[in-house]
Amino acid sequence: MERYNAYIIAPGIAIAPIHTLASPEIKPSARSIDKVEIPREYARFINAVVATKRELKLLKNRTAEEIGEKEAAIFDAHLMFLDDPLLHLQVSKKLETELVNVEAILARVIDELSESFASLPDPVMSERSADITDVGVRLVGHLQGKATEELVVNEPCVLSAREISPSTAALLDTDKILGLIVETGSPTSHTAILAHALGIPAVVLKSEDREEWQTGTMVVVDGLLGEVIVDPDAETKIEYDAKAAYLINLELKLRDRTTLYAQTTDDLYVNVLCNLEIPSEIAVARENGAHGVGLYRTEYLFMNRRQLPDEEEQYRHYRVVVEAFTDLPVTIRTMDIGGDKFFSESSISGEMNPFLGLRAIRYSFAYPELFRQQIRAILRASQHGTVKIMFPMIACLEEVEKIKVFLAECSEQVGVSMDNVEAGIMIETPGAALAADSLASEVEFFSIGSNDLIQYTMAAVRGNESLNYLHNPVRPVVLNLMHSVVDAANEAGIDTTICGEMASDIRVVPLLVGAGFSKFSMNPRSIPAVKEMIRRISRKECEDLFNEIVQMRFVDDVSKAVEERFGSRMEDLGVAGQRR
Ligand code: PEP
Ligand code: MG
Repeated sequence: MERYNAYIIAPGIAIAPIHTLASPEIKPSARSIDKVEIPREYARFINAVVATKRELKLLKNRTAEEIGEKEAAIFDAHLMFLDDPLLHLQVSKKLETELVNVEAILARVIDELSESFASLPDPVMSERSADITDVGVRLVGHLQGKATEELVVNEPCVLSAREISPSTAALLDTDKILGLIVETGSPTSHTAILAHALGIPAVVLKSEDREEWQTGTMVVVDGLLGEVIVDPDAETKIEYDAKAAYLINLELKLRDRTTLYAQTTDDLYVNVLCNLEIPSEIAVARENGAHGVGLYRTEYLFMNRRQLPDEEEQYRHYRVVVEAFTDLPVTIRTMDIGGDKFFSESSISGEMNPFLGLRAIRYSFAYPELFRQQIRAILRASQHGTVKIMFPMIACLEEVEKIKVFLAECSEQVGVSMDNVEAGIMIETPGAALAADSLASEVEFFSIGSNDLIQYTMAAVRGNESLNYLHNPVRPVVLNLMHSVVDAANEAGIDTTICGEMASDIRVVPLLVGAGFSKFSMNPRSIPAVKEMIRRISRKECEDLFNEIVQMRFVDDVSKAVEERFGSRMEDLGVAGQRR
């Protein structure tokens, strides 16, 4: 039995065999073949080449449309390699001489070609080595009948990997993936947000041992205390089975009361809404008593696709969500692509600082037709319920002016009036927070994206666990900034929702109530505990605490003050009391 300290990025307990995801490499197993099978194996190779070419051409077109011709040119080298006579010759020759299946041959040929290019003195030529490996992974993937970006596991397991991107995380099968161990991330990284939404406990573990763990070895992911236990002894296993059962009971108990309103002891009614990423969350959100959708992250609809969804398909998707919440508001955020979210693994931005670059509204402005299509789809869906449209990562008033032009144009195109569709913006850049006064008079609501507001205010990228101390949401300077946004919104008579991860952290909830928030939007699974917490506190004591902490200089003092005042009221809320 081996114990490791780990950093919790999504809470919960998982006990299952490890499945170690190798960093992408090609190692298919070899199987002997008979001479008569050679033509069939060669035909399989040709089919894989054709399928890979088709895939690369699609990727090339999509990249050219969405990113640029220059970036798309990379795929030309890949396509050329697939027609390289040397590749075809090597494969057919080795099939004759070695008499093994073509994927094993191909893996070897790719390795050899890649190594010979890597050793060339000319840097341009040696860089082709990576291209060859990339194409090899795709070719072997097709031969093995699996898409490169899809993760296939057959039995329930804890997935251990160096890194999992949000686009891959969106495809995780929750029946099979019971826990995650990764080497990098934080609670506000999008992979962690998805894991939390899907109910998959996840931790960051920095240890060279991780790569050595044998697939199939039992492991415990303790997403409450921050530990990973490899090969637990019988006693430890019993202890964790009991903890996992306790959590399930607690969840059921809290869920029993979740349809009750969230009202403080001095009668402040708090609106508890949900954040949505993928359709499977709708059921949990409804069951857990969400008062609507405060943030629908539509970018997930665009991920892992061979072709982006057109207006009609988007309209159908949005309509399903709107109709699932019938009389309740659904806030649809336009696509927030960029940062750490991309259409797929192969369309990752080459920007030096993707979080500061062509992300969110900036991306939409750069691809106006894509933006118009999405707005039109949202406006059409608005006819089936109460829809609000929200724009991410606003930095200045000029962007709001530009959005208004798009809205007017699209509203006319689809013949849907904006009278019944509130348009609001996310406040997640310091620029917007500081300009909240002037922005508030131009829009119909604000929503604070604290994950980004913290990242940009503290200049600390949100997915980096070693910057954890900077991401702490109880930092007075950040809370003060948010409070000033709420004030500006109140002054203008508009609402402000808080929709970042801190809204679901019961340790932070009293401070948010104290800062003036009465609309919270969160991961659907956190709703029962947050509602329960709200029912145990008064607005008055939260405001008193807030007035005290804004004078404090250190985050530890703030945490201590919250613990002293509210600690005893959180103890039995278990999993929601995530450790930081
Ligand atoms: C945020 O930044 O807090 C937010 C809710 O948006 P996202 O996490 O999708 O960036
Ligand atoms: Mg954000």
